[in-house]
Amino acid sequence: MSSTVFFIDFRADVQSSMMAKLTRLVRQAGMESVVRPRDLVAVKLHFGEMGNAAFIRPIYLRTLVMAIKQAGGVPFLTDANTLYAGTRSDAPHHLTTAIQNGFAYAVVEAPLVIADGLRGNSEAAVPVAGRHFQQAWIGREIMAADALISVAHFKGHELSGFGGTLKNVGMGSASRKGKLAMHSTVAPQVKAENCIGCGECVEHCSQHALSLTDDKAAIDPQRCIGCGECILMCANKAIEIAWDQEIPRFLEGMMEYAAAVIQAKAGKTLFVNFITDVSPACDCYAANDAPIVKNIGILASIDPVAIDQASADLVNAEPALANGVLTKNTAPGEDKFKALYPEVDWALQLAYAEKLGLGTRQYELRKVG
Ligand code: SF4
Ligand code: SF4
Repeated sequence: MSSTVFFIDFRADVQSSMMAKLTRLVRQAGMESVVRPRDLVAVKLHFGEMGNAAFIRPIYLRTLVMAIKQAGGVPFLTDANTLYAGTRSDAPHHLTTAIQNGFAYAVVEAPLVIADGLRGNSEAAVPVAGRHFQQAWIGREIMAADALISVAHFKGHELSGFGGTLKNVGMGSASRKGKLAMHSTVAPQVKAENCIGCGECVEHCSQHALSLTDDKAAIDPQRCIGCGECILMCANKAIEIAWDQEIPRFLEGMMEYAAAVIQAKAGKTLFVNFITDVSPACDCYAANDAPIVKNIGILASIDPVAIDQASADLVNAEPALANGVLTKNTAPGEDKFKALYPEVDWALQLAYAEKLGLGTRQYELRKVG
């Protein structure tokens, strides 16, 4: 059986603005059955690292906040702290970044709550029947909420091919301990013959795990947390992981974390994907490259697998934009994420999520006018 994924494109006029279309989209997708009067509703999103500009525009969040309030819910915007030391690694920095990126109360009309507390260790142990994990460490405030609306920016990602709903919920809801558990098997190595000793990776490693010896980078495995940032930083492809073993394990673990959250909130979740500013890499970076395809639209569904499958298909159906990073797989129908990250089989996460009972990859795309 297939799931319904509701969709709006970016055609609009004064009679039907994008805000009005977005409200209709989430209502048709089931907002009013997910959110009941007086529910505390966690709106899980990514506020964007400082310097990044590809994250979802705050005014769209206000529209979603209004729709939740109209359903009787009490929304708050939330995310968990990051593993690496950036501008969102503790609650004060995280909140400051969110507000400076435009997610101020005056704009979004909802309070911001950091899901895993001041230092990323306010967490709940959530049971999950996984191959890798039997319990997941999730930001306490996400678990304490009555309902969860995931609002994901759909874009490329260096460890998962793309990031959408499943990553937003699985990795994004985890506390620091949970994120560490998921990353623990990602162990990068330096390919000395490719390393030119430029030091770019050394500067960007938040854990000070990288150093230069005889003009070659070296990684201290005792310090490395497997965040994967250095892989993207190295323009010479001198930092690699055992892609065929480590990525499948990483993706499966992340899906188990998504399952822990979603299955604990059965019937109380709704997923929204923004296929806008489809940057090649995560919003966790302090910059974003040009989009790889045009702005496509916004999707909503109660099925987290179907919505990510539909989003990947919509991106891949587009021609690549001429001024972007893509030089391969640029034609409509060709796999843009495979061209960005040839070593990552992004479909694995969807297949495993399906196996965990989170949803189906079969979907019907229904356009909302
Ligand atoms: S960024 Fe790449 S080339 Fe430069 S020092 Fe690090 S591993 Fe070597
Ligand atoms: S994966 Fe790379 S950037 Fe991240 S901690 Fe390890 S060495 Fe540092």
